Amino acid sequence: MSNKRIAVYPGSFDPIHNGHLDIVERCLPIFDELVVGVLGNEAKRPVFSVAERVEMIREEVAGLSGCKVESFSGLLVDFMEEIGARTIIRGLRAISDFEYEFQMALMNRRLNPDIETVFFAPREEYSYLSSRLVKEVYFLGGNLEGLVPGRVLARLAEVKDERKVGEAE
Ligand code: ADP
Repeated sequence: MSNKRIAVYPGSFDPIHNGHLDIVERCLPIFDELVVGVLGNEAKRPVFSVAERVEMIREEVAGLSGCKVESFSGLLVDFMEEIGARTIIRGLRAISDFEYEFQMALMNRRLNPDIETVFFAPREEYSYLSSRLVKEVYFLGGNLEGLVPGRVLARLAEVKDERKVGEAE
């Protein structure tokens, strides 16, 4: 294994929003490489395919050196082994995130004792933001300016248009 400090920021990112990007920017200076790991979890019935989510994130992190975007399925610890990563990055918004995140961190440590999970707190204005809320608010016509990158808003607009066409048929 190389001595490079490689961290993985795993998640669904359906879609990526400014809270996620805030975490990426906060942890980048601390690691040699950060891999945003997009989970192909179809059980969550995502709006965007894994390939679309990877592409959207790549567009947003294009200017950040040391940041890569990959998709994975199966166990996170197996993906980490493959790419030589030792650290899991997760965002902690509120106490409500804590219990689930704590369980996952301990389970991942049990699966591979060499792996540590590190939590980052986002900027306050993003602390209530989630991909679920982004989708709900967007499809109900709410304004998401300042919370979601412009390119992501454009992709959401395409989905909304496709849905309208689908409904009209
Ligand atoms: P998952 O399905 O794994 O929860 P998400 O895409 O919802 O995937 O979130 C990925 C990671 O980003 C999680 O650690 C989550 O806590 C964190 N996160 C989500 N929203 C925010 C936010 N607004 N600020 C900081 N971290 C966030």
